Amino acid sequence: MKESKELICKMCRLFYIKGWVSGTGGGMTIRLDNDLALIAPSGIQKEEIEPHDLFLIQLDNSIKENYRIIEKPDQLKISACTSIFVQIFNQRPTAKAIIHSHSINAVMVTKITQAPEIALEKYEMLKGLQGGTYFGSHVLPILDNVEHECDLAEAVGKAVEKYPLAHAVLVRDHGVYIWGESPEKAKIHAECYDYLFGALIQEKTLKALNLIGG
Ligand code: ZN
Repeated sequence: MKESKELICKMCRLFYIKGWVSGTGGGMTIRLDNDLALIAPSGIQKEEIEPHDLFLIQLDNSIKENYRIIEKPDQLKISACTSIFVQIFNQRPTAKAIIHSHSINAVMVTKITQAPEIALEKYEMLKGLQGGTYFGSHVLPILDNVEHECDLAEAVGKAVEKYPLAHAVLVRDHGVYIWGESPEKAKIHAECYDYLFGALIQEKTLKALNLIGG
């Protein structure tokens, strides 16, 4: 538990430097044994989070919220993403960590199409995704944004179920939820997706300028 708490703090600092959790946005969770999960709090600067600031929840499908809070730090609010994290953990029993990023690449990639999904293809970096191949097409769902993040939970759950090969769900004009089978794998997925989103934005821009074909 102590190591996982320190890891969340370390990763939040790193993601802040990358611009994924600036302005108190974004979030992170790690699933522990026995369906416990650590969650970074809401509304505070992610780069300042200390191990004692983290919430501990128990996943529990027998109650309406699907989780109960076990440890609550004083003065802090649980992440607005909690119900979404819980939905993803329920749909993906192998997922051990989830990162919510407000990366500019994740936001802008949702603006280049009005479709409910986006295909990533023909990039070597696809191999960094579990099951990803250079010649394959990796498709991610894009959900429409809502005013209150918690209202996305049901739609995220349905999207995760509908796209069994995806390791992420995009939310238009907002960001992305990315998971992996360990915190390290979630981080690698987040890095690969961010690279792929940035590459696709540049590809579309260069095509619009007629600087590359297609
Ligand atoms: Zn968000």
